[in-house]
Amino acid sequence: MTADARRTRLRERLNRTRESIAAACADAGRDPGSVRLVVVTKTFPASDAAALCGLGQADLGENRDQEAAPKAAELASLGLDPVWHFVGQLQRNKARSVAAYAHWIHSVDRERLVDALDSALTPHGRNMNALVQVSLDGDTSRGGVPVSGIAPLAERIAASAHLDLKGVMAVAPLGWEPAKAFALLNECSAAVRRVEPAAAEVSAGMSGDFREAVAAGTTMVRLGRNVLGEREAMA
Ligand SMILES: *Cc1c(COP(=O)(O)O)cnc(C)c1O
Repeated sequence: MTADARRTRLRERLNRTRESIAAACADAGRDPGSVRLVVVTKTFPASDAAALCGLGQADLGENRDQEAAPKAAELASLGLDPVWHFVGQLQRNKARSVAAYAHWIHSVDRERLVDALDSALTPHGRNMNALVQVSLDGDTSRGGVPVSGIAPLAERIAASAHLDLKGVMAVAPLGWEPAKAFALLNECSAAVRRVEPAAAEVSAGMSGDFREAVAAGTTMVRLGRNVLGEREAMA
């Protein structure tokens, strides 16, 4: 496919996705401006991310630093400055790299990661927005803090110098009704707001379940396939 044809395809898919989000908001009696779309560009080339920026899509997400860091650098070299959201599991030894480009991290799930990010941000002299990732079913192998660990983790973020506590994130557990998952996530959001009343962001909803997430009150949906198409099988 030529670059022009790909840009046209992405424009159509992005517009259709925005319309679907607006329709889900209308069904839920919500203002469409109350849901932020983060397009997850993982496995897709930097040229797609650049095309999305050109289409006015400001928020882009990635889940692996090895892929995100060079992509962010390539866009920066083109003079493009999207708002990068890091949404994947993060090892502490990658905190320094992520601190160089990410504006949001959706996947803070342990106190030692808070400390690593906090010191990694110090030389940059800027703060990063942080969400507590919750493991709704307690299976932390897919990332996230168990529900019982939310309050201490939120307190650690709130006490850090360079992370701004903004809310919660989750992935609906496999086999769960999305509505049940997002209702539990709303309870988790309340727990975080008891620590920081302004931390009201809820990052939930992927291509398969974003309508349910919008109905439940999500403020950020993270969509990949809906905008970019199916991904190649990952190694
Ligand atoms: C890949 C990914 C998404 C987007 O998933 P799609 O099904 O492509 O919409 C959202 N959140 C996280 C954490 C992801 O890793």
